[in-house]
Amino acid sequence: MEDKQPIQSKLTSLDQFKSWAKENGFIFPSSEIYGGFQAVYDFGHYGYYLKENIKNLWQKAMWQERDDVVSLDSGIFMHPKTWEASGHVGGFSDVLVEDKKTHKRYRADHLIEDQIAEDSFEMPNFSHIDDEAIVNALEKKDMDKLTPDQLATIIELLKTKSPDGNDLAEPRNFNLLVKSNLGTTDATFNEENVTYLRGETCQGIYLNYKNVLDNLRVKIPFGIAQVGKAFRNEIVARQFVFRTREFEQMELQYFIHPDMNDEVYAMWKEERMKWYTEVLGIDNASLKFRPHEKLIFYAKAAEDITYNFNSMGKFDEVEGVHARSDYDLTQHAKFSGQKLDYFDQEKGERYTPWIVEASCGLNRLVMMVIDHFWEMEKIDETGDGKRDYRTVLRLPKHLAPIKVAILPLSKKEDLQNKAHEVKKMLQSDYMTEYDETASIGKRYRRQDEIGTPYCVTVDFETLEDNAVTVRDRDSMEQERIKIDELLNYFGDKI
Ligand code: ATP
Repeated sequence: MEDKQPIQSKLTSLDQFKSWAKENGFIFPSSEIYGGFQAVYDFGHYGYYLKENIKNLWQKAMWQERDDVVSLDSGIFMHPKTWEASGHVGGFSDVLVEDKKTHKRYRADHLIEDQIAEDSFEMPNFSHIDDEAIVNALEKKDMDKLTPDQLATIIELLKTKSPDGNDLAEPRNFNLLVKSNLGTTDATFNEENVTYLRGETCQGIYLNYKNVLDNLRVKIPFGIAQVGKAFRNEIVARQFVFRTREFEQMELQYFIHPDMNDEVYAMWKEERMKWYTEVLGIDNASLKFRPHEKLIFYAKAAEDITYNFNSMGKFDEVEGVHARSDYDLTQHAKFSGQKLDYFDQEKGERYTPWIVEASCGLNRLVMMVIDHFWEMEKIDETGDGKRDYRTVLRLPKHLAPIKVAILPLSKKEDLQNKAHEVKKMLQSDYMTEYDETASIGKRYRRQDEIGTPYCVTVDFETLEDNAVTVRDRDSMEQERIKIDELLNYFGDKI
């Protein structure tokens, strides 16, 4: 019966991804009725549950299955000094360039990288340039971490234009922190008492280090992990939910003695990569570590976990694993005037803990799993030789937003009632969905497309034999199962 021949195996562009995600109720562009709102997206029913499932798996790996990590849910707003201490007020910026004619703004590094990636691009001679960072960037075709002046030199050399073909103004730094007018004193921005929406969730962890240490009976080495929203004024919206201005992060900060740095860093690298392959089910070949080219002055090591996005045609970052030394606690101790150290009673030693962090973006993970498990294939499910195709999201069952769909074969009242009975029986254990619209074939396709592992069909025979047909998403095979046995059946399968 099964005769699968992929006709297009993967999502091949972000535009295709975007339309698919919208049409299937996963991800919607923000504020569409007002013409849209750049770089913000809303998660629909299925996208929300997929996101929650990934989040729960991360929390399980961080908290439930470990003895050394505690949780936290800190506020989005923090004392403004937090962001001075962390270095974000002074240095959390990307380099922006403006189209002189249209005044549209772009990230300078991205514009240059796009230009270099074009088939027709020919690299001009740059042997006269003696700035090592520029030479390195041109050789590696990676413009990250260059200053506005260095990028200006490259723009001049490559004669880089805007996507509309116009000249560009001088590049300049643009701070990514999102300002707010929280507070009752003045509704307009006042630079002296400006507050920020957090640019990363980990600052809330550093600010609570002392609370956790004093009140939760933790001992080094220990971690604090949290999930929550972060906000960045990203310069340009062009990568779907890969780069948005509001997004969710899942961050672990692990506090250690400096001597443990290398060992703990290696341990977290291994743990995190294992989570992607063993828990999320991503193929080894689609993942790789990418070491940072240039370490920031306080970092001891930094690598990103990158995933090969079919829809973007390249590997890109989903998570960072960084050894941050004592920078964070030292900075907050300095700016707050509080002691943020650790006293090891057994050794009689006092020190400022070092930190290893594992920091990932939940929206990027949603995008990664859809990108990885989405497939379009040619099939002949009914075996009548009439070829059809289906899109199937081959999510591991524990990631699927809906586990079982219940489908009455027709809209006859007694079938509807029976199907509702079956749904009631299953829905306290599983996310289920009832669907009676369109032909049964179309309904199977719909469930395949959103990744539902099982469809239960209630047909006329059900009324006689109290059994239903269970269809498997991947094999498309069907089995007749007694309704009384369904809970046990799914208990074994899901
Ligand atoms: P990039 O280099 O792609 O801008 P980053 O190195 O600034 O990312 P981090 O500050 O290390 O990112 O944040 C940790 C994680 O948070 C990233 O690995 C990514 O998954 C996620 N993240 C960061 N910025 C965004 C964003 N604008 N939209 C969605 N996710 C993001």
